[in-house]
Amino acid sequence: MGRLCIFAPQTSFRAPSGLVQKTGYRAFGALRPLAEAEVAPLFDYARQTPGIHSSPLVDTFGRVHRYLRISLTDKCNMRCQYCIPEEGEEPILPTTAGELLTREELQRLTRLMVGLGVRKVRLTGGEPTIRGDFAQIVEDLGQLSHGLPQPLSLGITTNGVRLSKFLPNLRKAGLSQINLSLDTLISAKWPLLTRRPKTWHERVLKALREVASLEEEFSLKVNCVLLRGVNEDEVGQFVDLTEHHRTEVRFLEFMPFDGNGWAKNRLVPQTEILAAIQRHVHQRGHGTAERLPPDTPSDVARLWKVPGWSGRVGIISSMRDAFCGGCNRLRFTADGQLRNCLFGEEGWSLRDAMRAGRSDDELTALIARGVRSKYAKLGGKRDMHELHERGGHNLRMMSLGG
Ligand code: SAM
Repeated sequence: MGRLCIFAPQTSFRAPSGLVQKTGYRAFGALRPLAEAEVAPLFDYARQTPGIHSSPLVDTFGRVHRYLRISLTDKCNMRCQYCIPEEGEEPILPTTAGELLTREELQRLTRLMVGLGVRKVRLTGGEPTIRGDFAQIVEDLGQLSHGLPQPLSLGITTNGVRLSKFLPNLRKAGLSQINLSLDTLISAKWPLLTRRPKTWHERVLKALREVASLEEEFSLKVNCVLLRGVNEDEVGQFVDLTEHHRTEVRFLEFMPFDGNGWAKNRLVPQTEILAAIQRHVHQRGHGTAERLPPDTPSDVARLWKVPGWSGRVGIISSMRDAFCGGCNRLRFTADGQLRNCLFGEEGWSLRDAMRAGRSDDELTALIARGVRSKYAKLGGKRDMHELHERGGHNLRMMSLGG
């Protein structure tokens, strides 16, 4: 298909430097408020460009963005070795209110995005449940479905340590999609993988059992990042979780991010994961797992099902396949940057624009700018090697939330 340009004619307009935060940015402290002189040209551009608001969430390749992932904080109560370096203990509750988007700002931006066509919202982090106002944020999101022909699809990605106590809030708000990250079922491995006590492992397993037992309310996916020599031997046990519950177990290939110890020989590739799944299914006497079609063209997981079992097994092969062609995702970082790609190196600060008193139309223009800047694939990188080479330029997974 040819490259579809939504906003013709192309212009040589360049966003003012303060709006586009190049990486190298590592902490919220590196941000500075925008000077009026820096933002004004962008909004002049928006006013002078007829039709800029007509399809703000469609990029120059014709991809329509209906899925918004919101990082509520870049802090986490865990220290998973493949995600975040050990150093730098952080408090469980965020304290730097001035840097994170406030609950009201989150609501305003999400409402705006829903107005522009977003129909699926996922809360992530860092760990979303450590925000002191997490329950209220979920409640606010639940309200955004009012007046829509169909309720928004609301979800969360969580490590599960604090999940149990929030389940009633999630149900009440209509949040039904829970992705639980769990990389081992063997509690002895937990401290090595997460740098956290074994007792937390039991808390996560308890949350897993609770959510799995509430099949009518929650759709559960278990995310497991496979690491060579660490948990690759547990594929079969994870697959077994799909026997009696509608759970979808998804194996993720290990991706490179700033300071996460990525190495090619630690990556367990899709072919090996699939072979391990099939070996296990065969050993259990069920022949072979059957391939399933994706639920939607934008799905990132390849799916299989063991004949007669309730759940499904997925593989997310981010390193071997770029599934960028069907990408419908946009992201907000916890400090309010719009990010158009997990591997992108640019962000557009909606927080600063809001705090500078910008109107919804002006925010929409900034969002459109970010969407139009999206590369065809991998944030402009050629392949996994270039991704690795430029790993230090990506935001950490912690800041983007997967
Ligand atoms: N704290 C939440 C959690 O644990 O689910 C949300 C944030 S976490 C960064 C989101 C997902 O990214 C988790 O499923 C985690 O396993 C995955 N992840 C983190 N680092 C990764 C990496 N280097 N490669 C692949 N997946 C990764």
